[in-house]
Amino acid sequence: MTWPTIPKDETTRAAANLTDAVRAQFNWEDARAMLDGLPGGGLNIVHEALDRHVAAGHGDQVAIRWLSKDGDQRDITYAALATDAARFANVLTEHGLKPGARVYSLVGRVPELYAAALGTLKAGMTFTPLFAAFGPEPIKSRMEIGEGNVLVTTEALYRKKIAPWRKELASLRLVLILSDGNVPEDCVALRPAMDAAADSFETANTTPDDMALIHFTSGTTGKPKGAVHVHGAVVAHAATGRFALDLKPGDIYWCTADPGWVTGTSYGIIAPLVNRVTMIVDEAEFDLDRWYGILQNQGVQVWYTAPTAIRMLMRAGKDAAKPYDFSKLRFLASVGEPLNPEGVVWGQEVFGKPFHDNWWQTETGGIMIANTPEMDIHPGSMGKPLPGIEAGIVSAEDGAVRECNSGEIGELALRPGWPSMMRAYLNEQARYDKCFVGGWYLSGDLAMQDKDGYFWFVGRADDLIKSSGHLIGPFEVESALIEHEAVAEAAVIGIPDETAGEVVKAYVALNPGFEPSEALERDIRGLARKRLGAAVAPREIVFRKQLPKTRSGKIMRRLLKARELGLPEGDISTLEADEK
Ligand code: ATP
Ligand code: MG
Repeated sequence: MTWPTIPKDETTRAAANLTDAVRAQFNWEDARAMLDGLPGGGLNIVHEALDRHVAAGHGDQVAIRWLSKDGDQRDITYAALATDAARFANVLTEHGLKPGARVYSLVGRVPELYAAALGTLKAGMTFTPLFAAFGPEPIKSRMEIGEGNVLVTTEALYRKKIAPWRKELASLRLVLILSDGNVPEDCVALRPAMDAAADSFETANTTPDDMALIHFTSGTTGKPKGAVHVHGAVVAHAATGRFALDLKPGDIYWCTADPGWVTGTSYGIIAPLVNRVTMIVDEAEFDLDRWYGILQNQGVQVWYTAPTAIRMLMRAGKDAAKPYDFSKLRFLASVGEPLNPEGVVWGQEVFGKPFHDNWWQTETGGIMIANTPEMDIHPGSMGKPLPGIEAGIVSAEDGAVRECNSGEIGELALRPGWPSMMRAYLNEQARYDKCFVGGWYLSGDLAMQDKDGYFWFVGRADDLIKSSGHLIGPFEVESALIEHEAVAEAAVIGIPDETAGEVVKAYVALNPGFEPSEALERDIRGLARKRLGAAVAPREIVFRKQLPKTRSGKIMRRLLKARELGLPEGDISTLEADEK
C-alpha cells in the first residue's frame, strides 16, 4: 500500500519557524550569532540555556515542570534552575575538581539530575548521564572508559550497583548522594552541600571546541561507543530545536526520552532550554493513561517521543485516546527507530496531527534529517536534511566513495562540519577514523533518496538481508507486517538459506485480543506477500510476547539473529529484560 501524502496548509506553513526563505538563507555563522557567547569569544552551553534568559528578564518563567512518580508537581523557574546549577558547580569546585573533570549521573528523572548536568557544564567539566536501570557491570565499564571522577546517584543505587566495585576505580573521587542527610561512608549528601554552597558561579570560559558531554550509544549493533561532544554543539541544538521541533519561547514541550540517552539530553535538556520553552519532565515510566493525561492536563504543545512508545499507544487502540482533549498539541515528532507509516497516520487520526519522523544518532549530536512542520509528509520517510546539513546516499567500497542515484539504496552519509558532530569515540581512535571516508561521515545506516529529495530509511547496514539477488531492508517488511490488524510490532532478520543465500524470518508481537495460531501466521504471511511479493515476504513468522529491545526502545535484531544461529549474544548491557 502506498500511503497518501499528508499535505500542509498555508496557515501551518506560515506559522512554522522554518520557512523556505529561512531555509535558503541559513548558515551556521548566523545561527551562532543568534546566541550570546561569552565575553572574549567563548561559548558555554549553560550560559545560552539559562543565564542569558535570566539576564533578559525571563527568570520567572518555568523551565521545568517536574511530575513525580507519586503525582506531585513542582515548578522550577529559569532563575531557580540557574541558581541550582551554580550551587552544583560550586560543590564540585569546593571538592577540588577542576575544569575537564568527568561527572557521571546515575539517577532517574529527578530535578537534581538537571541541576547536575547544567552545573557540570557551567563549571567547564564533562557530563555523562547513565541510565539508572543499568546493572553494575555496564556502569563500571562506562565509568572506566570515561575515567569518571564524580558520580551523582541515590543511596539505593549506590549500595547495589557502585559500592561493590568503587575501590577498583581509582579516578572516582567524589560520590554525591541525593539525600538530605545520612549517606554511606565516603559519600557526600548532595542537598545539604548545595544548600551550603554559594548561589552564583562564574561560568567557565569554555571554547566551542571544549569537551562538554560524553554519550554512550545505544548498543543496538554491538558494544556501545562513547561519543565525545563539545560546547559548540549548542549552536546546532538551538537551530535544530527551532527548525525540526518548531520550539517557540514559552511553549509547553515534552520530550519523553531519558537523559541516559542522547535524545534526553540534546532535546530533553539543552535544545528546549536554549529555546526558552517550559519542559515537562515526568519521573515515571510509560503508562498509557498517565501519558494521555499529561498531554491533556499540561497542555503540551510540542511532543517528542519514539516509535516504541507510539506503537504501545497504538496497541491499546484508538478508543483509549477518546476521552482526552489534545487540542493544545501543535507538533508531534518521533525519533530513535524507523517510524512505520501506520504510526504517522495514526497520529493524524488520534491527535489530529501526524507524527514527524526525524533521524539522527548519538554521533551527530543533533537532528540531521527531519520532517519539519512546513513540509508535506510522505508517511514512512524520514524527511529532508535540515538547513546547514548536507546528506547523501553513497556506496563506499575499498576506500572509494560513489554517490548513488535517486532510488538507489546506499549508506546514509553526511558532510562533516556541523557544530554538534562528535569529536571522538572515547579511546577508539581507529573506529572513529573509519567513519570518515572520501569527505563524508558514514552513518552505518542504509537509506535511499527519492526524486523529491525525501530520505527513506532501509535498515542498519548490519541488518540488510540479501535474498536471491534482492536487497531487503527490514523496515519495509516490518511496516507491511504491522499493517495486519493482529500485529503490534515486528522484527525481521535474514537467515542463511542454501538456494537463496538468505531468507526473511519475522518475529511478531500481537495486539490484545489475538492469539498465536497457524491460521494467523498464514494470514499475516498472505498479507505480506500481497504487499511485498513472494521474494521479499517472510518465509517464516514466529510469535513473541515481546521483542528484545534496548532500554532506549530499539529492537535488537542482531540478538534475534544470534539466537537463531546459535552464535554468542555479544554485548547486551543495554538490553531490557526479554524472553528468549
Ligand atoms: P549502536 O551504535 O551502539 O549500535 P544505536 O545506533 O542504536 O547503537 P543511537 O545513536 O542511540 O545508538 O541510535 C542511532 C540509530 O538509531 C541510527 O543510526 C538509526 O539506525 C536509528 N534511528 C534513529 N532515528 C531513526 C529514524 N528516524 N529512522 C530510522 N532509524 C533511526
Ligand atoms: Mg549507532
